[in-house]
Amino acid sequence: MKFENFDPIKMSLIEKYAELIVTKGVNLQKGQPVILRGPIGASEFMRLVLRKCYQHSASYVMLEYIDSLAEKEKYLYGAEAAISYFPKWRADGYEELCKNNACFIRISGDDPDVFSDVPAEITGLANKTNSQGMKKVNRYTMSSELSWVVAGAPTPEWAKKVFPNLSSDEAVDKLWNRILEASRVNAADPAKAWDEHNESLRSKTDYLNSMQFKSLHYKSEGTGITKGTDLTVELPDNHIWSGGCEKNAAGIYFNANMPTEEVFTAPEKTGVNGYISSTLPFNCNGNLVENFVLYFKDGKVVDVSAQKGLDTLKELLATDEGASYLGEVALVPHDSPISNSNTIFFNTLFDENASCHLAFGEAYPSCIEGGEKMSEKELENHGLNTSLVHDDFMVGSPRLNIVALKKSGEAIQIFENGNWSI
Ligand code: ZN
Ligand code: ZN
Repeated sequence: MKFENFDPIKMSLIEKYAELIVTKGVNLQKGQPVILRGPIGASEFMRLVLRKCYQHSASYVMLEYIDSLAEKEKYLYGAEAAISYFPKWRADGYEELCKNNACFIRISGDDPDVFSDVPAEITGLANKTNSQGMKKVNRYTMSSELSWVVAGAPTPEWAKKVFPNLSSDEAVDKLWNRILEASRVNAADPAKAWDEHNESLRSKTDYLNSMQFKSLHYKSEGTGITKGTDLTVELPDNHIWSGGCEKNAAGIYFNANMPTEEVFTAPEKTGVNGYISSTLPFNCNGNLVENFVLYFKDGKVVDVSAQKGLDTLKELLATDEGASYLGEVALVPHDSPISNSNTIFFNTLFDENASCHLAFGEAYPSCIEGGEKMSEKELENHGLNTSLVHDDFMVGSPRLNIVALKKSGEAIQIFENGNWSI
């Protein structure tokens, strides 16, 4: 559906949303370069964001379209050498912009299972190649040295996956409504709504930071389909819970995810034991993995089962040593605007903000005091996982209870039936 076919009210909201991404998202400062990436199927919206960047005095916008169908041609017909090749000039180009204080805008909206007919070992190799090639660049965003934001925009393929019974145009229209609602663009003053939302997340992180819990115990009953959950996650000393806006190295506030409902920290790498069941489809780089159970021993996934996409999941876990350990613990009430929309988005940005989640792989260095300045080795020594990957998967449900344990041994229930109980 083309922008010219939207009614003027909808179009003005989409424009406000683009504005919000550039201002509240990366908080673009005058004269900053921008790295703007997103799906070719959302090109009209990409151009709108690009316009906003220049209106806010960007010095240069590097626009990079992601064409997953072209990628797929390479995956299906390319030799292994082609799939494992990463052009150095590409990372160098990014780095030049990073050294000039660039900010990153990533628009997410691709077909959730675009690579479903590509063998898992090929997508696994491609992801590893990409993550290795971009390792230095990714560090700028993982450590929040530079501002970055991920936000969504519908493509017809994504919209049809979310609303399969609607026509392509209707599905795109409806998905836009969901995205605009979830991103608080419908509020009378969206910027103010974001400030208030950030404040309410801050009250949760302040509480959790003051408590410095030793561990979290996740428990939920199984259903006919899922095994349920019984998992203990230890937290490292001096861990930091974050949520909502954060500060980059220059002290500028930005919001890395739009929408965002989570508060998160890092687990102790070797302190995860028990089992946990996924509760929403996991979009693993263009492939869906569904209804999986992970078994942990001393932090490592030692066994895994899945009703769909087991090979894809195993490839991800085999990327490197850290990929089979956890790097994020995030708490999201089941009663949140996104989960109340009763929509499965098949897109991590949205589904992760409807559900408690964990992530395979790299921990955010900012989750521990002084972490941004630590080397990989130092981070590991402080209990944080490092890896080429960081992939969130959802474990929250109305059946989930979480009991937090203080160092004194006192137990406090912080989640009851999927919602905050503190
Ligand atoms: Zn998260
Ligand atoms: Zn994450």
